[in-house]
Amino acid sequence: MTDSDADGTSAEALADRVLDGDLRLHELEDHADADTAAEARRILLSRETGADLDAVGNYAFDAAEANSNIENMVGAAQVPMGVVGPVPVNGGAASGTHYLPMATTEGALLASVNRGCSAIRAAGGSTARVLKSKMTRAPVFRVADVAEASEVVSWVRANEETLRETAESTTSHGELRDVTPYVVGDNVFLRFGYDTKDAMGMNMATIATQAACEVVAAETPAALVALSGNLCTDKKPAAINAIEGRGRTVSADVLLSREQVEERFKTTPEAIAEANTRKNHVGSAKAGALGFNAQAANVVAAAFLALGQDPAQVVEGANTITTADVRDGDLYASVTLASLEVGTVGGGTKLATQREALDVLGVRGGGDPPGTNADALAEVIAVGTLAGELSLLGALAASHLASAHEELGR
Ligand code: NAP
Repeated sequence: MTDSDADGTSAEALADRVLDGDLRLHELEDHADADTAAEARRILLSRETGADLDAVGNYAFDAAEANSNIENMVGAAQVPMGVVGPVPVNGGAASGTHYLPMATTEGALLASVNRGCSAIRAAGGSTARVLKSKMTRAPVFRVADVAEASEVVSWVRANEETLRETAESTTSHGELRDVTPYVVGDNVFLRFGYDTKDAMGMNMATIATQAACEVVAAETPAALVALSGNLCTDKKPAAINAIEGRGRTVSADVLLSREQVEERFKTTPEAIAEANTRKNHVGSAKAGALGFNAQAANVVAAAFLALGQDPAQVVEGANTITTADVRDGDLYASVTLASLEVGTVGGGTKLATQREALDVLGVRGGGDPPGTNADALAEVIAVGTLAGELSLLGALAASHLASAHEELGR
């Protein structure tokens, strides 16, 4: 018997103690290091469910460092990671040629995006720009009636500087850009918008908004009901994000010659433009979609998993409009991601594989000046998204042409 068996802190003994009701699942880190606690949970789970968790326990990051990323840790879910590129990016923050790491279980996705990258490379690269950077948090307050709502809104408009000072006192990086009031009967929503520099910023914005809310509650009749009133809007489909933007609003475009379209996609600029209009615009409008694109979420999700971004925010990443037009016989195409929420510090960016993936892009950690690394990350993801759009539209257009040829040729 080892010392840890004797004092009940070996993984086996800890699992026994949880099963006996002596300890709770979330208390294991109080009695052992993070790796042993995770092992104890795997032992317990295996006993309870019969599942073999050897692969889950085979992780590469420091479990202790992951304690701000996960509770009740048992190990890691591993997703295959690949890379697309190289693709030249002429960005406001990103420059030069980039490889984009992507993690997915969808076979053919990287092949498709890579084909788009090669077309963009043949065209000399894509131009990309971050057009807006603003992370939002919108608390909801209760007021007596619409007259009181109006009074609160007037106070907020007259005291934005006080709210700014209070909010910014909680962070050395975040800057409050604006506070936009919305009233619905006896509900007042204040949509706080922050420049969060290289952080995705959801924690930063929430902490800063909490401080500002205390001032609003003290100085006006409004009572805070919820720090997030869903008008933010985080991790839920919402038109406000598609229209106003959230996180980074970023665009990328490319001009492909007719020859490049024919060579890479075996189709024509006209066929790609028509597929884009009828599918991405008319089809999406008929479906009541917020995003007017072919597969933006595919690229955003795979990049987010590889690069340590919050996967639930793929919802907002899907608010993307793709355009494709024939210009003098060539193909002009663009993507605009209205609400791409990315960061190069904080959250999942400090985990081992995610750190390495950020190094592939050269954007790990804070940028100089702050904000430029997250801008660069947004621009490269936008170019990857453009590549995915071109490739899928090209495939659809080419198979349409192929079937048309088949029909016509018979
Ligand atoms: P965070 O890890 O909570 O904070 C990152 C911190 O890094 C910033 O607050 C900032 O500290 C510091 N920092 C250092 N260098 C920086 C630079 N160059 N630019 C900006 N900040 C820099 O990360 P977060 O981005 O605010 O929040 C992301 C996390 O929030 C993710 O884990 C996500 O899953 C989670 N999340 C939270 C909520 C929520 O409601 N709270 C909602 C969705 C997601 P200073 O502020 O002191 O300057």
